[in-house]
Amino acid sequence: MTPEEFRHHGKQVIDWIADYLAGIASNPVLSQVKPGEIRRALPTGPPEHGEPFESVLSDLDRILLPGITHWQHPGFFAYFPSNTSGPAILGDLLSSGLGVQGMLWVTSPACTELETVVVDWLAELLGLPERFRTDAAGGGVIQDSASSACLVALLAALHRASGGRVAAEGIDRRYTVYVTSQTHSSLEKAARIAGLGAAGLRAVDVDPRTLAMDPAHLRALLAEDVAAGAVPAMVCATVGTTSTTAVDPVPAIGEVCREHGVWLHVDAAYAGVAAVCPEFRWLNDGVAEYADSYATNPHKWLLTNFDCGVLWTADRAPLLEALSILPEYLRNTATTGGSVVDYRDWQVPLGRRFRALKLWSVIRWYGAEGLRAHIRKGVGLARELAEWIGADAGFEVHEPHPFGLVCFRPVWPGLDPAESDGATLRLMELLNASGSMYLTHTRIAGRVVLRMAIGATATERRHVEQAWEQIRWEHAALSASLPDR
Ligand SMILES: *Cc1c(COP(=O)(O)O)cnc(C)c1O
Repeated sequence: MTPEEFRHHGKQVIDWIADYLAGIASNPVLSQVKPGEIRRALPTGPPEHGEPFESVLSDLDRILLPGITHWQHPGFFAYFPSNTSGPAILGDLLSSGLGVQGMLWVTSPACTELETVVVDWLAELLGLPERFRTDAAGGGVIQDSASSACLVALLAALHRASGGRVAAEGIDRRYTVYVTSQTHSSLEKAARIAGLGAAGLRAVDVDPRTLAMDPAHLRALLAEDVAAGAVPAMVCATVGTTSTTAVDPVPAIGEVCREHGVWLHVDAAYAGVAAVCPEFRWLNDGVAEYADSYATNPHKWLLTNFDCGVLWTADRAPLLEALSILPEYLRNTATTGGSVVDYRDWQVPLGRRFRALKLWSVIRWYGAEGLRAHIRKGVGLARELAEWIGADAGFEVHEPHPFGLVCFRPVWPGLDPAESDGATLRLMELLNASGSMYLTHTRIAGRVVLRMAIGATATERRHVEQAWEQIRWEHAALSASLPDR
């Protein structure tokens, strides 16, 4: 493809994306295809002769689009949002256009230095502590995901807890990691990858009402494990759990970590970015005093296309010692001179994309005030929704709901708990099959609740209102259709 051909098709692609985003609401949110349907519609082998790019675009429309679940649809309330925005898409495109691979400073100095500036900017925007800044002992790095961030944090924590032995000799004794039933599954995955096994995970109790970690039980478990000869490597506190956005008490947990010298990782993958707003700075309580590492995902709620998760550490030394290996073919004077950052040492893969460009584009386009307005819109709509639900005798709201997620349960008079849970799931299936919204569910105290996560870039008040009207209507219709008791 010559530059002139690229210019021509590039304009077609930008037009395609602009039209897609402008008309997105006319698609069913959740793809309605059956397993295998898309695959069967595609040729089984690759073409021998090159094809015009228009054929790719027409197959995208004809074959792939029906198999797309529209994450940017204003009725997308499932999981957490995975925001995109114009500046993020364009920043990502520029990154593709440059095609640099920023594994080392020398492989593109701007790729590294812009990343350093942008993660420092983000730390400032979120009110994170000075010691997370790259000009202090710590520093931030863009990872592909919060899952990678917690794996990398665990490797640094193991390095510190083992006095460097794990990097040299492998797992040489029983190391333990402390989580709760509400912690993201990526912690168990990280423990398995690191060779601790799921058995290395220790489940700390949660407060049954708030679902937040119980620091007293953490203290007891740590003491018990140390007495039994285990070496506690890391505690993961979550600020905004995936299931219900519960918030673990970081200051109290940090105090326990300090008593035992255990690494504290704070996973704020979804909620952390809300701290762009002063009224959410409480999210960072305890982080400055106690956290060894902290992660949040601009790719969830901060208008930045997947993938973009940021990990900060208060002390980069154990991280770099755990992960850096310098083979001859990567040796260069900048690296050996020690005057530059090589982000390959801060992550699992060697190679890395120029992700800082999209985050930079987003921060510059929206400015701090634009980012705050986006978070406040989601929080405000979630509050309104929770008020509507709370005022309706046919539903119960789970409290608290400090961010953009509202968990709630329809009431099914006459049904026992198991039947009610079945009816709630049936209601969710009907709503999702309608094409106008997409919700997911979780369980609280064993009971099924619906999760409605507000915060997609395109979601406005009218979309939340319409969704709530439809939920009420479908609930009434389904209630009426249940056999009389
Ligand atoms: C979404 C989420 C993760 C995982 O995020 P990825 O970036 O998809 O790996 C981890 N922790 C919490 C609390 C989350 O909500």
